[in-house]
Amino acid sequence: MALELDAIPILDNHCHSLLRAQPQDDAAFRIHLTESYYPEIARDHVPHSLFYLWAIRELAAFLGCEPTPDAVHATRRERGVERLTREIVQRANFRGWLVDTGYGTDTTLSLDELRGFVPCDIREILRLEPLIERLIVDATGFDEFLEAYRAALADLRGSGYVGMKSVIAYRSGLQLEAFDRAAAKAAFDELHPAARRDGKLRIESKALLDFLIVAAVEQSARQDVPIQFHTGLGDPDLDLTKVDPAAMRLIFSDTYRGAPIVLLHAGYPYVRSLAYLAAMFPNVYADLGEVTLFVAGEVPGIVRELLGLAPASKILFSTDASLVPELYWLGARAGRRALARVLDEHVTDGLIDQDAALAMAEQILWRNAERLYRL
Ligand SMILES: [Zn+2]
Repeated sequence: MALELDAIPILDNHCHSLLRAQPQDDAAFRIHLTESYYPEIARDHVPHSLFYLWAIRELAAFLGCEPTPDAVHATRRERGVERLTREIVQRANFRGWLVDTGYGTDTTLSLDELRGFVPCDIREILRLEPLIERLIVDATGFDEFLEAYRAALADLRGSGYVGMKSVIAYRSGLQLEAFDRAAAKAAFDELHPAARRDGKLRIESKALLDFLIVAAVEQSARQDVPIQFHTGLGDPDLDLTKVDPAAMRLIFSDTYRGAPIVLLHAGYPYVRSLAYLAAMFPNVYADLGEVTLFVAGEVPGIVRELLGLAPASKILFSTDASLVPELYWLGARAGRRALARVLDEHVTDGLIDQDAALAMAEQILWRNAERLYRL
């Protein structure tokens, strides 16, 4: 008998908020079914992707309408974002969302607004780079900046955060190096005048970012608060040669052993790097998210590779859903289905029995995250 995982709740350890203004038709909706920001990808190519074709069929089944883009959009418009999200959270059996609030901050609902209608536990993850950028603009010099940064991270749980997140992968890459305070100050002094003048900046300085993110890892260890890292696939902004999590050797040392480190997005295409790191280092965890959406045709293969090496106690589940509620549904469906299929194979092959398979599914879908984030 095939494994049935719908009754096991999901604690989504990495997702984002929802757009205030929801897309009204397929052309606007399709933009959210690709990580590419080139309009011709969404317009000309997404309709030929497995993810899109599956999404329309899956959403039609969910909404009880014809499996055509027009019928899906007519039905979702009629439901409205609040009712749609409530139904998705209930039917997908979400226990909680850990929301990275540093993405789309101006166009998405606040956590309090989400809490008003989303029927699960909503917690906040602090994204570090926007905080750093804001503090650089506000500070008159490096010492003042560093003090403000340290103060912002001094009591994470007391400030309402259950974790931190870094997108350094997008900026200077994951090849973290040890820079001292003098090197960080020199880098700061170089970019600070323009940041002050413009009232904003996009920080990409390797010396400064490596110094500050390693300092956050120290806080993660000191406070036992997880720190998430974007690894692997993302939008075309990133350099795919710099996002292999194996490059983060510096923070996998004994110095930071107390820091719960969560490597997001299955590290795709460096899935095996991620499985290896989670299997080797006691404080490193592999997240199975984002790929359940954008790599729709390969989800069982990715689960098979992660679980092939990493113990089930080291794998966390997320959707990385953002902006439109349907992505939560699709991520939950694809993730549970792939997990059931792979665990089934191992039961059939005699590696584990059915009880062990269900216990593994529970660990991955919610138990590991609940323990790690101390919810
Ligand atoms: Zn994300």
